[in-house]
Amino acid sequence: MALRDSQPKTIHLKNYRVPDFLIDKTDLVVELGETETRVKSTLAMRRNPESEDWSVPLELHGVNLQLQSIAIDGDPLEDDEYYLGGELLSIHRSLNESFIFSAEVIVKPQENTSLEGLYKSRNMFCTQCEAEGFRKITYYLDRPDVMAEFTTTIVADKSRYPVLLSNGNPVASGEEGGRHWVTWHDPFKKPAYLFAMVAGDLAHIADTFTTASGRVVDLRIYVEEKDLDKCAFAMTSLQKSMAWDEEVYGREYDLDIFMIVAVDDFNMGAMENKGLNIFNTSAVLAKQEITTDASFQNIQAIVAHEYFHNWSGNRVTCRDWFQLSLKEGFTVFRDSQFSAAMGSPVVKRVQDVNLLRTLQFAEDAGPMAHPVQPASYMEISNFYTLTVYEKGAEVVGMIRTLLGPELFRQGADLYFARHDGQAVTIDDFVAAMGEVSGRDFSRFMHWYRQAGTPRLDVAGHYDAAASTFALTFKQHCPPTPGGSDKKPCLIPVAMGLVGPEGDLPLRAEGLDGATHAVLEVAEAEQTIVFRDVPVKPVPSLLRNFSAPVKLHYPYSRDELLFLMANDSDGFNRWEACNQLSLDILKHIIAARVDGHHLVLDPRLVRAFRGLLADQSLDKAMVALMLTLPSEALLGEEMEVIHVQAIHDVRREVRVAIARALRGELLACYDALQLDEPYSPEPEQIACRSLRNTALAYLSLLDEPALLDRIHGQAVAFANMTDSHAALVSLVNSPVPAAAPLARDALARFYEQWRGEPLAVNLWFQAQAGAMLPGGLERVRGLLEHEAFDIRNPNKVRSLIGAFANANAVNFHRGDGAGYRFLADKIIELNRLNPQVASRQLTPLTRWRRYPHDLALQMTSELRRILAEPGLSADVFEVVSKSLANLDNR
Ligand SMILES: [Zn+2]
Repeated sequence: MALRDSQPKTIHLKNYRVPDFLIDKTDLVVELGETETRVKSTLAMRRNPESEDWSVPLELHGVNLQLQSIAIDGDPLEDDEYYLGGELLSIHRSLNESFIFSAEVIVKPQENTSLEGLYKSRNMFCTQCEAEGFRKITYYLDRPDVMAEFTTTIVADKSRYPVLLSNGNPVASGEEGGRHWVTWHDPFKKPAYLFAMVAGDLAHIADTFTTASGRVVDLRIYVEEKDLDKCAFAMTSLQKSMAWDEEVYGREYDLDIFMIVAVDDFNMGAMENKGLNIFNTSAVLAKQEITTDASFQNIQAIVAHEYFHNWSGNRVTCRDWFQLSLKEGFTVFRDSQFSAAMGSPVVKRVQDVNLLRTLQFAEDAGPMAHPVQPASYMEISNFYTLTVYEKGAEVVGMIRTLLGPELFRQGADLYFARHDGQAVTIDDFVAAMGEVSGRDFSRFMHWYRQAGTPRLDVAGHYDAAASTFALTFKQHCPPTPGGSDKKPCLIPVAMGLVGPEGDLPLRAEGLDGATHAVLEVAEAEQTIVFRDVPVKPVPSLLRNFSAPVKLHYPYSRDELLFLMANDSDGFNRWEACNQLSLDILKHIIAARVDGHHLVLDPRLVRAFRGLLADQSLDKAMVALMLTLPSEALLGEEMEVIHVQAIHDVRREVRVAIARALRGELLACYDALQLDEPYSPEPEQIACRSLRNTALAYLSLLDEPALLDRIHGQAVAFANMTDSHAALVSLVNSPVPAAAPLARDALARFYEQWRGEPLAVNLWFQAQAGAMLPGGLERVRGLLEHEAFDIRNPNKVRSLIGAFANANAVNFHRGDGAGYRFLADKIIELNRLNPQVASRQLTPLTRWRRYPHDLALQMTSELRRILAEPGLSADVFEVVSKSLANLDNR
């Protein structure tokens, strides 16, 4: 593939111009071959009446294409009538107002390891065009605001590729000799990034969905024959998503057929191509023997997410890639609502917030920090980030909190009705919300345009004589690369005041006695005074995590224990427990860094004992509350990340809890043994999650009988959730007697599942994440394993990614060998698959947060990568931004 010699260009939102030309109809004929593929395109084009300049030549995007011929209105172009430079084809012939552009190119999908454009995964051809992959298929105006009606004919060897799929509905087919062809027509105009085609020897399961208006839609999931038994769950998830989107958003499906295809080699989770979603096998295939509960839930969410895009993304799409969060933030918000409705809303919220705090806040504080609507990029693939997706979803959620559910739905209806068939902006979305509510969103827009996580400091003052309680809010957003002058955001703070008898009525300006309110904090500093407060209350702030901020309130540990037991908001009960654990762990870690040993505050053990004894609580919530904050989250909370101290203290505290609560944990483990057959339903998932949380604690005790039981659970292979949880506990247990059991369980696991790549990925992941000493050596060994393949992104993520991201204590070892290892792999991946290479870089880019000696080694590896000849734009952008301003440290 082509690699870059010169520094890639930066593209700015402020330079956006409407396209000078438009494409009304796109006709493709794709002749698939074993060494090369011929793509013939016929584009019905015209000058854009809205273009400011009618003299500009036609320029089409194209990458790695072998041009065979070009013609305008059927008349072939002479050599001097076009110019091929870089990634652009410029036409130097005077053009009519409308004309037909046709071209024939040769592409080599078999050699395409970037997994972008048309490529081969195992024995099937498939495509990935978002964001800019279509230009690797043919010359085109590859930008989302150019929308065309596509007709696609695929021609291929019939025996090797009996199934030929593309967007829309099949309209014609035929065969000649050993080859056959199918023509697909998509009546909905779409940008090229939503184009897809698949050719392969695929089997499928079929079902139907009847829409609200009574149309019957054909639903199909295409997979390799061996995977037919793993499609049922995704099919049910799809049907549930279709019903939910009709019920909650009034959105009906539009084509006669909806297809999902599972592909082994895929850069992302899945892709919402119109009518033909292409999924990473890991995001669609499921059965209890090889799929964990977490994966079942993930699959349900991703199927819903891609389906919801049919409206939020496809029918209404993005004008340019700076608007990516228009479709992603909104759609993640929609899939979160869906997941919440299918299970426990509080559990879903805790999971989302943990992800946001651990990874998105870190991104916001790192060298790649960018607003939800970025102002510039070098390589758009680098902006498929937690900020655009997860923080973007939080921003949409805040709009809903401010408007309430009815007005929010009206705003969404107006947005879809007004912009159906258009490519629009984030401002268009917010304008619809403003119009239905009469609200001014100008200050709110800082959420889209400012990077960084705002910090909200809150102080409370109780005046017993006056019976008033005053809350003072101060907000501040730290500087981020390219932005130091941050303006205050409009922060919705859902809250209540909790007294000994429960929630107190809230009386203040604009509040008339309800026990729950959403305050709108919009100034740098602002105070609200509550009247008629009979006792000193404990404020319950930011209920349900109503804004993506770092909230600081000087709670005492006893106040947190009080909220844990008394808050009426389920999320904040968890949050109080989480803050208590964090506070206790942070103190011990800080002392450890200074060489002191503190004892564990007995209140944490008492609180956990209370949780285990309370039968009234949701088991999934108890499991979440009993799980100490992760090492990654603890690191995020500290000024300097002391990896070893964090790891040691967290493990020691877990051992202390396991010893103190041995009886309770064992009773919990025994009591929650399920007799009924496995099902990925919320009640069962909650039981398994609590039971395996207890098991993880018990695995830290030096008791052979307990370890034998855990080993027994690992190798019984009753379901993947239980088997995997036991395996992970064994490989992480510091007890010497666990080591041979872990080795045996790993060997049996591989023997059992060697034919199932998704299960083997879990096996890689468990070992890559094992925090006992020697992690790097184990990972190096596994790179040579027969099941590992660096060209497969899932395997890279399971082994290299899991090691660098989820095994801090081994990755950050003092001699820098972990860093050298990752840099070597990134250099190798850069040549194969720049997108995957760039994504693996993240742990190295966070060097500023680590002690000086580690930071020095990390930056020296980053410089080594930067010096590599032929660095892709993807890797160049991340490495150069992470090294910027080195002198200002
Ligand atoms: Zn999406």
